[in-house]
Amino acid sequence: MPYTSQTKTRHIQTAPNQAIHLKFREPLPERVTIGNLVYHVRPNTLPVMRCTRCLLFGHGNIFCNGCAHCRKCSGFHDNDGCIREDHCLFCGPGHCPTSKQCPACL
Ligand SMILES: [Zn+2]
Ligand SMILES: [Zn+2]
Ligand SMILES: [Zn+2]
Repeated sequence: MPYTSQTKTRHIQTAPNQAIHLKFREPLPERVTIGNLVYHVRPNTLPVMRCTRCLLFGHGNIFCNGCAHCRKCSGFHDNDGCIREDHCLFCGPGHCPTSKQCPACL
């Protein structure tokens, strides 16, 4: 198929700086319509900066002023060899604070 510049269907392309950030529950819709613009939905591949020390978002561990939290039980100790139950810093028991199940980590 030769490419023609006068196709009948109009493809809406948004510039990268017009990307919008929306949160969806899984599964992601293929596209979303806002006004009369169609946006294609892609998972956000940019990781949110997360502190590996206190497990909070928005800063890295070298800028951390908080207390270190266990990555398994959220306790105030090093997570090496932690045998306690998974306990999320944000949600409570059921998963560890770095779990993919955690709604705070989406
Ligand atoms: Zn921190
Ligand atoms: Zn622990
Ligand atoms: Zn959680």
